[in-house]
Amino acid sequence: MSINSENSLLSNKIVYDITKFTHLDYPDKLACIVWFCGCNMRCAYCYNDDIVYANKGNFSLEDVLEFLKSRQGLLDGVVLSGGEATNYNLTSFVKKVKELGFAIKLDTNGTNFNNLFKLCSLGFIDYVALDYKAPEYKFKALTLSNRFGEFSKSLNYLLESSIAFEVRTTVHADLLDEQDINEIIVDLAKRGYKRDYFIQEFLTTKSNIGNIKAPEKSINKVHLLNDRLNIVFR
Ligand code: SF4
Repeated sequence: MSINSENSLLSNKIVYDITKFTHLDYPDKLACIVWFCGCNMRCAYCYNDDIVYANKGNFSLEDVLEFLKSRQGLLDGVVLSGGEATNYNLTSFVKKVKELGFAIKLDTNGTNFNNLFKLCSLGFIDYVALDYKAPEYKFKALTLSNRFGEFSKSLNYLLESSIAFEVRTTVHADLLDEQDINEIIVDLAKRGYKRDYFIQEFLTTKSNIGNIKAPEKSINKVHLLNDRLNIVFR
């Protein structure tokens, strides 16, 4: 990316919104959340549909940096979320955030490997929350994207790196059943993932991308392979 295009990215309004304070979204840190416009996937249960479909946001990265300057000493960290933050080359922005002294957490679907790799290998990311959307055989049906291979590369990279990270799955019982979740668990264990595996239940909101309703039943936790990984329900 040239200096000019990096500068224009800094002034473009690619940020949908900023949550000014959270103590729930970054483990052990007081943080803000930066919500990036757009996503390369279309998960049926996604309730951030307004963010995913937004072509333009309300803030530029320069605005975010100004906001962060006003929060130095008050917040510990910044969560990059969306939408999908790695749709953008954020190297120059993230470097500036680090220079301001903030820890950075990246929430990602892992399907832009090159951008994720760039940010992580430069040492700019302190924590990654990686979505494992579905086993490979269901990935396209659930996300309307064909990017399991990219996701898989990101997962392998994080496993080989020393970056702190977690893997998580959002579960709607009509889209993923116990067998699908067990496929994910077996795959994670086979790859050497030893940390907690987080399962988040589908949240009913006023809208979502697939216009889906709450499932009629929940998944049966008893049937999950919790002897392979420590499963944490959120
Ligand atoms: S849930 Fe899916 S569609 Fe929504 S922001 Fe995350 S990856 Fe994109």
